[in-house]
Amino acid sequence: MTTLRIGDATIDGVIEAFDAIRAPADIFPDATPELVDSHRGWLEPHSIDPETGNVILAFRSYLVRTGGLTILIDTCVGNDKERPLRPNWHRKSWPWMDNLHGKGVTPEDIDIVMCTHLHTDHVGWNTQLQDGRWVPTFPNARYLFHEKEYAYWEAEHRRQEWIRDAFEDSVLPVVEAGRAEMVAGDHEITNGLWLEPAPGHTPGAVCVNLQNGGDRAVFCGDLMHHPLQVPEPQWSSVFCTDPDMSRETRVAFVERHAETGTMVLPTHFAKNGGGHIEGGGCDGKAIFRFAG
Ligand SMILES: [Zn+2]
Repeated sequence: MTTLRIGDATIDGVIEAFDAIRAPADIFPDATPELVDSHRGWLEPHSIDPETGNVILAFRSYLVRTGGLTILIDTCVGNDKERPLRPNWHRKSWPWMDNLHGKGVTPEDIDIVMCTHLHTDHVGWNTQLQDGRWVPTFPNARYLFHEKEYAYWEAEHRRQEWIRDAFEDSVLPVVEAGRAEMVAGDHEITNGLWLEPAPGHTPGAVCVNLQNGGDRAVFCGDLMHHPLQVPEPQWSSVFCTDPDMSRETRVAFVERHAETGTMVLPTHFAKNGGGHIEGGGCDGKAIFRFAG
């Protein structure tokens, strides 16, 4: 991915993997073949596989360099994780760390880690396996967790088996090592970089806003999984904790950022990840124009 610029801040994607294993309706229960087909023209081949019709998802972190800080937003699935309930994520050895080095950054260089929410595929590289123990991957970083999101999963991981492993091997070791900092949903990370609540996908999901030199960007995590949700923001995903609230948050987001020049950076979009929302709010005609 080419480096994107917002004022004098830079944004790079660190890719873990791409996959194209799911049909649109497997992720978006409200998707109909007719509506999906109406968008294939601008989504193939980068975001919909022309052969299978499956949606293409990226798994990436964003690396932001601004104000002398190096910030990592979301940390993918991770390597060596025991994920027996998710075979595609089980005991992997992806080249994510090589890709980080490829951006001229070592784990020691990371000052701040911010997970937009605490799903399994957003916390993985928080930790790595060292002598049989999970330890923080970024030894000098402060890991920021939205206090509401942390509290929710701290309770839920005991009840929901699918999230338990990730919370125990990728979140708790950071807390136990004293590297975690619980913050409010509108926390300012540094001048021109701040959180904003975006509830629905998970209760404490946040967007990370960046403003620099008159330019704007927003890292929106899983508020959208796929560019199909730009013209169809009413489609929540099967992964949303509260699909109705997720829909409300996403519709408002698309209306607010359409035609504004704001660079929108969801976690799972293909290509560079980032781009602009073009066209009106919710008339089914908006598109996502990828940058770079
Ligand atoms: Zn998620």
